[in-house]
Amino acid sequence: MTSSSLPGAPFLAYREQHLFIEELNLQALAKTHGTPLFVYSKAAMLHALAAYQRGFAGRKAKVHYAMKANSSLGVLQVFAQAGCGFDIVSAGELARVLAAGGRASDVIFSGVGKTRSEMQTALQAGISCFNVESEPELDVLSEVAVAMGKVAPVSIRVNPNVDPKTHPYISTGLKGNKFGIAHERTLQAYQHAASLPGLKVVGIDCHIGSQITTSEPYIDALDKVLDLVEQIEAAGIPIHHLDFGGGLGIDYNGDTPPAADTLWKKLLARLDERGFGDRQLMIEPGRSLVGNAGVCLSEVQFIKPGEQKNFCIIDAAMNDLPRPAMYEAFHQIVPLTLTDASSQVYDVVGPVCESGDWIGRDRALNVQSGDTLAVLSAGAYCMSMASNYNTRGRPAEVLVDGAKAHVIRQRETVADQMRSESLF
Ligand SMILES: *Cc1c(COP(=O)(O)O)cnc(C)c1O
Repeated sequence: MTSSSLPGAPFLAYREQHLFIEELNLQALAKTHGTPLFVYSKAAMLHALAAYQRGFAGRKAKVHYAMKANSSLGVLQVFAQAGCGFDIVSAGELARVLAAGGRASDVIFSGVGKTRSEMQTALQAGISCFNVESEPELDVLSEVAVAMGKVAPVSIRVNPNVDPKTHPYISTGLKGNKFGIAHERTLQAYQHAASLPGLKVVGIDCHIGSQITTSEPYIDALDKVLDLVEQIEAAGIPIHHLDFGGGLGIDYNGDTPPAADTLWKKLLARLDERGFGDRQLMIEPGRSLVGNAGVCLSEVQFIKPGEQKNFCIIDAAMNDLPRPAMYEAFHQIVPLTLTDASSQVYDVVGPVCESGDWIGRDRALNVQSGDTLAVLSAGAYCMSMASNYNTRGRPAEVLVDGAKAHVIRQRETVADQMRSESLF
């Protein structure tokens, strides 16, 4: 294995056989902070953001970090300080943005099931846009806004019916999905929105899926959205901003998604061609900003030879790293120290009492109990999906900035887990 092929390079690299993140030896971090441990590179996040910023140079564009990918306060702080807005999917996420130093006026609110109470909280805070996903939601939002003496800025999420060719659980822009309004109904929905007293139409948005590794679905979606904008504006409803969602993939295992600036070069050329190049643009990337900025360190507990398979039992599990169990997702698993000894093939599994609790299958590793492994590409949809299943405390998190390590989350204790419970 060469360091340059590691997802996360160049911020993650072997130096004389030892795996480093930025200037820090990961083995030393595991020793100091224990395992399982999430470690993030701040430089890797800013580097990923910079690719979008280069792509948008000279344009009116705003990046809203889709924070469900990783909503830890220290991670949000990185993006708030870098001038990003945030795409939220709950009132809880709004509270996190504010706690991390972000501004409500830089927040857009997505999601198919916003409650009245969440709408009130977001209106009170003064967010910049509600991305509305159904016609009933338009009615309820208008009602809530009128009752508060406010007007809610809205964009309608349209479902362009394009296939992003990704995992079915993470494609969202097909007809059979629960997300967005069918493009055939979009004009009607906009006319309805424009007629409601509590709403002001400000934009249009789409988000077609996640871990998308080619440009074509984006170009198809863009064309369909622009067709709709032409229809809606011809009906006398101006669309101020165009929001193309998130979804750009990352390298988990030799995946080759386009770079953000390359993708946007193509999309901007298309926007220019169609006369929309000077519009206010928005995007909502999540995974592509944080996925390869993080690793999860885990200690090998036991090596268990089996009749059909050998198991490498580690101290991280599906509650810490849910993606393999949920989506059969692939994460590279590498040793913190390279040696020349020969390897064996293992299923890398956690201690949780479920057969679905595997982190990697059929992996060639040279390991012994007590070694530490790094699960790569663990910055997105890992900690934010972590649970307490089996009464396991969620891991600690460290944000690395050059040679400095900041603990941004302490390991959760059993007392933390039981705090809100009581005997009857
Ligand atoms: C999850 C989500 C995103 C981010 O998707 P990524 O694949 O992480 O970039 C953006 N917009 C909406 C509406 C989402 O639900």
